[in-house]
Amino acid sequence: MSLIVQKYGGTSVGSIERIKAVAARVRTWRERGDRVVVVVSAMLGETDRLVALAKAIQARPNPREMDVLLSTGEQVTIALLSMALEDLGCPAKSYTGGQVHIRTDSAHNKARIRKIDGARVKADLDAGCVVVVAGFQGVDEAGDITTLGRGGSDTSAVAMAAALGADECQIYTDVDGVYTTDPRIEPRARKLNRITFEEMLEMASLGSKVLQIRAVEFAGKYRVPLRVLPSPKFEDEDGEGTLISFEEEAVEGAVISGIASNRDEAKLTILGVPDQPGVAHKILGPIAEANIEVDMIIQNVTADEATTDFTFTVHRNDYERALEILDTTARSLAAREVAGDDRIVKISLVGVGMRSHAGIASKMFAALAKEGINIQMISTSEIKISVVVDEKYLELGVRALHQAFELHHGD
Ligand code: ASP
Ligand code: MG
Repeated sequence: MSLIVQKYGGTSVGSIERIKAVAARVRTWRERGDRVVVVVSAMLGETDRLVALAKAIQARPNPREMDVLLSTGEQVTIALLSMALEDLGCPAKSYTGGQVHIRTDSAHNKARIRKIDGARVKADLDAGCVVVVAGFQGVDEAGDITTLGRGGSDTSAVAMAAALGADECQIYTDVDGVYTTDPRIEPRARKLNRITFEEMLEMASLGSKVLQIRAVEFAGKYRVPLRVLPSPKFEDEDGEGTLISFEEEAVEGAVISGIASNRDEAKLTILGVPDQPGVAHKILGPIAEANIEVDMIIQNVTADEATTDFTFTVHRNDYERALEILDTTARSLAAREVAGDDRIVKISLVGVGMRSHAGIASKMFAALAKEGINIQMISTSEIKISVVVDEKYLELGVRALHQAFELHHGD
């Protein structure tokens, strides 16, 4: 008998029909003898609707009140799903985050889970109930309602699975698994049966939006086996989805598992700065103080040896602000010039197989060169190679790499 935590997102519970389909699926699992905890999101569009209501009153609503408001979305779903389960003859009990002691810090609207006391949930499971828990919410030390940030129910589910020592945490989404790349960019993208946790973490941080990155981090930390599955529609099809595993042999054979791309990039360059100790700190210090995250960094070697050029990338939303800060820095360092470009994207190859295979980078660069795509920046880690290119090449670049590494062929 297994203990399974299942998470159903907003689309999966987007209508009464869909909620009934979820209930039917949950009942099937339970009838197989599994103990099931279900974590749900608000019905599709509901959280956005609540945000809009608040914004109609105040541009920046009180974060505490915002959490009281936003948490109601999930509360509706837990009750409706429990009713749907009862209607199918399946005993069920719903709980808000606070009721099952999902204890968080007090950072309203972006709280972090600290601890979950699973005693109450376990008692209900022992009594034969399906337990339905509201995702995305918790309660702080003072008893105030908190929420975990948009998309936070993935994290709720993983945390619940960790706290209960579940055998698997299943995330039901509107895609049927994790793909080699975004199928909207490359229609030949293939669903992966397995991906390692490390690869999933890279894919999520590089812009593949199947899972919330915090949920993946949480799963890694507590070694919770995760599976991404297609959400039940009206007919009862049942794919096996993608298992995110901790075993290296999971990807035996495939050197590259996937290609991630990210449009939210911008690069900034400061030219002709003195080539001296402390300069990198003088450039990036003020950027960090402004809470702007820096991703890639390149310092060039220049011919004259007295000065150098320094380039880094930031999120596109931070571009204007980073440019202003860099202008100030340029004046104080007597740099020659500041340049920037917010029409760039990052394309990354990800695969644990890279560790034991040489020549991946050169194959990647050859594939891009063949399409006439200029590489502006390169960065590598043990299991990833990223390049920055002009945004007009995003689709072409992804497709060229998908073809070069033959990712459309099965594993
Ligand atoms: N309902 C919340 C949101 O829309 C949390 C979630 O769906 O994961 O962001
Ligand atoms: Mg969601």
